[in-house]
Amino acid sequence: MANRLTGKVALITGASRGMGAAEARLFVQEGAKVVLADVLDAEGTRLAEKLNLGQPNHAIYVHLDVTKATDWDNAVSIAERTFGSLGILVNNAGILSLAGVEGTTESEWQRVVDVNQKGVWLGMKASAPAMRRTGGGSIVNISSIYGLIGSGGSAAYHGTKGAVRILSKTAAAEFAPANIRVNSVHPGIITTPMVEPLSDDLRDRVASAGCIKREGRPEEVAYGVVFLASDEASYVTGSELVIDGGYTAL
Ligand code: NAD
Repeated sequence: MANRLTGKVALITGASRGMGAAEARLFVQEGAKVVLADVLDAEGTRLAEKLNLGQPNHAIYVHLDVTKATDWDNAVSIAERTFGSLGILVNNAGILSLAGVEGTTESEWQRVVDVNQKGVWLGMKASAPAMRRTGGGSIVNISSIYGLIGSGGSAAYHGTKGAVRILSKTAAAEFAPANIRVNSVHPGIITTPMVEPLSDDLRDRVASAGCIKREGRPEEVAYGVVFLASDEASYVTGSELVIDGGYTAL
């Protein structure tokens, strides 16, 4: 299938690598114009250039630290200036912290909250006025299975991912009159640079704890994000799309 996002303009955070990069690739393939946003400037610029070779003038890279309101304003304004509108926001940027409740320092807690939780709020706040100008939109917030269930570690990560889940629901209610839908996505363990520092043993244990006994691929999450971003999901808001190989089913 192609052209599921033709005529739409999307801003994707954390788009330089991992799942964000897979989403950017698939969005362009489906006809969207995409602003790739990240703090990894070299990788993001290279990916945007590559995407433009296949589909000229469909991608642009912008430096955006999701914790900074001024960076958000700049990225939204670049989207509108370059592509004429903004209708899709994918709040995908995120960081992992493995420490449990007692092992987490105050500064580590704050760092994770700033990126994973405050970043999502700032993104919705900055993008909503542009989406109103577009006549509506779709916001997809990337949470995690660890925004749904616990695991006995990663305290700040679980706290922030749980916050993203419920923040998405209240934003869905707030923005529905403006024809803006908001949903959260909850991936299981996915093969990206984020999980590279984890031990093979831990990765195997998480991967084999689901119904489908392997790690997911970034594309397998990106297809779900395309659905939520597209008009196919016109009656879907405030919902949770779990893409985890059945990890939370057991
Ligand atoms: P990744 O580490 O490969 O990519 C994350 C991207 O976010 C990187 O490009 C990074 O530079 C960017 N980023 C980090 N801090 C940023 C900031 N302040 N401003 C802008 N960009 C920033 O990770 P990934 O696995 O692709 O993760 C994408 C999202 O999916 C994250 O929100 C993550 O928590 C979530 N997730 C990942 C998994 C997994 O197993 N990989 C599972 C569930 C949820």
